[in-house]
Amino acid sequence: MRIRHIVTAVVLAVLTPIAAGVAVLMHPQPAFAYHVQSGRLSLFSDKPFDTEKSKSLLAEVDRRLRLASLDHRDGEHRIFVANSYWRARLVFLWNFGAGGVNYYPLTRNVFIRESDIDNDRVQRTAGPVPPPRTFAYYAAHEIAHSLTGEAAGPLSYHRLPAWIREGAADYIGLAEKVDFEDLIERLRADDPELDPKRSGLYLRYRLLVSFFLDHEHWSLEQLLASPMPQPEAEARMLAAFTN
Ligand SMILES: [Zn+2]
Repeated sequence: MRIRHIVTAVVLAVLTPIAAGVAVLMHPQPAFAYHVQSGRLSLFSDKPFDTEKSKSLLAEVDRRLRLASLDHRDGEHRIFVANSYWRARLVFLWNFGAGGVNYYPLTRNVFIRESDIDNDRVQRTAGPVPPPRTFAYYAAHEIAHSLTGEAAGPLSYHRLPAWIREGAADYIGLAEKVDFEDLIERLRADDPELDPKRSGLYLRYRLLVSFFLDHEHWSLEQLLASPMPQPEAEARMLAAFTN
């Protein structure tokens, strides 16, 4: 009997903080006092921001998402900006070093680190992140994870190789075409910017996703249903661009 009580106490001690953490990620609104809504997009922050500027910023995020064939425009997406250290700790958890985070399939809420919303910039320790990685990019990238996750389904989504998961989110988040000739030349020359480990950028993944979508005319749904290993994807792209 005593052992059962101890086991129950241990289980509760482990599960209670997890349940509290999940509740915070699903309903963080009370910790974010400032809010604006524009159609299906909501922006929350713990610091005041300009309403008109934030609405045009949300319109830009919406424009990028609309370009994705799998955006069915159903339901709300909420963006939370955690400027204070303790809020960032609370919602970024093991992703504390990241600029943005998405917890698909737990919630559609996405979280962005300290930002200057009025100037469309995310702040990092080195200073504001320069364009094209603007606040609109970070927000659209994180919401794109929800859209692609919902299209693929949770199990398939988490089994997808990183080049498809992050490449598709960046393809939607940046919403601009890549220069194949230039990037493939740089890839062949081992440009560090095209190595996600060295640069911290998803440029290589976006190049690959762009190849299948814009050059081979695959749909995003087709790409998400075909978890092709990265070496095979790269071999196909390089073969198509052999002089
Ligand atoms: Zn991502």
